[in-house]
Amino acid sequence: MQNDCIFCKIIAGEIPSATIYEDEDFKVIMDISPAAKGHAIILPKRHFADLYELDEITSLKALAVARKVATAIKAEFRCDGLNLLQNNGEAAGQTVFHFHIHLIPRYRKDQVKMSWIQGEYKEGEMASIAQAISKRII
Ligand code: AMP
Ligand code: ZN
Repeated sequence: MQNDCIFCKIIAGEIPSATIYEDEDFKVIMDISPAAKGHAIILPKRHFADLYELDEITSLKALAVARKVATAIKAEFRCDGLNLLQNNGEAAGQTVFHFHIHLIPRYRKDQVKMSWIQGEYKEGEMASIAQAISKRII
């Protein structure tokens, strides 16, 4: 548990939350300021600031939990779609520095914005960037 981490406090039961799912590694709660009704967040019980700190086993388990909860959300709301969103760093919109995954139900004509202006690469640029990133994979 990290001092002053709101999600650690929720996991410890010091701050109330509406829990959807819990197992030995995760707690899934309703997001208090939802993008849509049913917006949930998956919290690992151990404190990891972000994706970079997360261990591999927890990262694998997190997607299994996401699949389980997404299936339940879809069954309950009959939503047309669902986004998984996971922010790392302030620049990416992270506001709580305890790793979490958002599950956001989506509807064909909803007002949720999760889009970008499509960019483009110069000739050969995409392949050289792919190679540069690839070399750094450990
Ligand atoms: P992010 O911007 O990806 O770091 O997301 C943090 C999310 O945590 C936001 O969507 C907040 O609405 C949500 N949040 C913050 N405090 C609480 C809380 N006490 N209970 C539930 N969700 C919270
Ligand atoms: Zn924490």
